[in-house]
Amino acid sequence: MRPIVALACPSCERDIRVELPPSTSPICSTCGEAGPWDGTGLTDDGGLTACLACGHPELHTSKDFPQALGIGIVVVAALLAPFTFYASLAVAGLLDALLYRFSPNVVACYACEAAHRGFHAKPRHPGFDRTIFERLRFGERAVMGSPMRPGGTAGAEDPEH
Ligand SMILES: [Zn+2]
Ligand SMILES: [Zn+2]
Repeated sequence: MRPIVALACPSCERDIRVELPPSTSPICSTCGEAGPWDGTGLTDDGGLTACLACGHPELHTSKDFPQALGIGIVVVAALLAPFTFYASLAVAGLLDALLYRFSPNVVACYACEAAHRGFHAKPRHPGFDRTIFERLRFGERAVMGSPMRPGGTAGAEDPEH
């Protein structure tokens, strides 16, 4: 899978999908506006030290879990439950767990929400940290805001909360 960045168009806010390496600066296919691009966060191994759209060094990793499919499996299992002595529910639980386990990661930017898919897993960016989100959003007024770690989130520990 080639690495892809989905960033929001600054004009119409639709996704601009950029396949790496981009040949030109990203252009919105809907309105023709040029999207932001800052490729300096790409490591030689194809990992990320910063957002490729805005250059912000704080990113978070989550599972790219197809939620609609997960819910669909549970719905089908519930419909089949009376005919399978409820074994279908156990199977659905297992299927959902497997689906989650093998879902690819998506690395998103705290600042501009650009989604990065298919990049090298190193350096690793931990899961969503509310204290980073609050600091960026509320600045000095953030209740739980924590200062930025040198180098951003690359290789950081997972948040404890
Ligand atoms: Zn646009
Ligand atoms: Zn960004």
